[in-house]
Amino acid sequence: MTDPSALPLAAVWSGPEGGFALEPQPRPELAPGEVLVRIELATICGSDLHTIAGDRPTPLPTVLGHEAVGVVEDVSGTVRTRDGKLVEPGQRVTWTIGTACGSCRRCVRGVPQKCTGVRKYGHEAITDRWRLNGGLATHCHLVAGTGLVSVPESLPAAVAAPANCATATVVCAARRAGLDAGDSVVVIGCGMLGLTAVAYARELGAEHVIACDVDESRRELARAFGAHAVGGPDELAEYAQKYGADVVIELSGNHRAVQAALDIVGTDGSVALVGSVSPGPEVSFEPDTFVRNLSRVVGSHNYTVDDLAEAVLFLAETPAQALFADLVPDALPLHDIDAAVAAAREGTAPRIAVRMD
Ligand SMILES: [Zn+2]
Ligand SMILES: [Zn+2]
Repeated sequence: MTDPSALPLAAVWSGPEGGFALEPQPRPELAPGEVLVRIELATICGSDLHTIAGDRPTPLPTVLGHEAVGVVEDVSGTVRTRDGKLVEPGQRVTWTIGTACGSCRRCVRGVPQKCTGVRKYGHEAITDRWRLNGGLATHCHLVAGTGLVSVPESLPAAVAAPANCATATVVCAARRAGLDAGDSVVVIGCGMLGLTAVAYARELGAEHVIACDVDESRRELARAFGAHAVGGPDELAEYAQKYGADVVIELSGNHRAVQAALDIVGTDGSVALVGSVSPGPEVSFEPDTFVRNLSRVVGSHNYTVDDLAEAVLFLAETPAQALFADLVPDALPLHDIDAAVAAAREGTAPRIAVRMD
């Protein structure tokens, strides 16, 4: 049991050389509209691993981690969850990966994830005013503009933690691609996001779900999550021909997979590109085919608070909930952060969890 009077503790990361150090942090003084959450569980996301590997620059020192679920410990002023409930101590919540001001042109146009003033948890330097700004800590200091969503007590923490990155990102991509009941859906890349996409497409009533991955064990997982057909890259075109490809969700980020997604999309179909989050080789497409096929291509990055609310609802109700729980081995304690990161880098499980007790 956590001692509520104890100082918050954060795994402060100083870069690939300096690594992690557990450091006590002063309890933040909350400004109006801010919330202090005691984190129950955080999961290590692929983007954390990219940062730790030095592939993605981040301001330092920082508190990494953004996939998390926790319990409200303190609130300043009036703050409401997405469904309008007053945020109060004791409430179990998750929160958007980034803040949104609600008034800039992008926020007004419905893409708050691209707010011109966005601040992202697990991606910012520690400042005197904002120290607990990531998930790998006992507490997270939620600043104004963060979207909060209630999490049912019945939802296991290991299933809930990925909601605010993996699950909400998939929900947003499906929405942007127009995924609807009756569609034939192709999911490329069967890590955490791909398996989520398979289950979510089934939830939305997809007629066929085809899952593609280079790894056979991941393909079998995709089948367990509800894929009707699974295959490697060499079988993708054949399956798309056989079952159709109304919506193609590309989550691997591999440029050959991106090219395949553009090549296989069916007439009046959509491609959602999600996995390509760092610069890679160019891909090509032949415009005449795109015109005649009525093709659409959408990029999708992060999500809105409505997508997060939908993600939590989906996780709470999906028949695949036990399968999602099985993707996350027993959590390691925060003081074993180096072991947790090493396990995540090994990649034997889609997510490694860190507990804060
Ligand atoms: Zn904004
Ligand atoms: Zn993430």
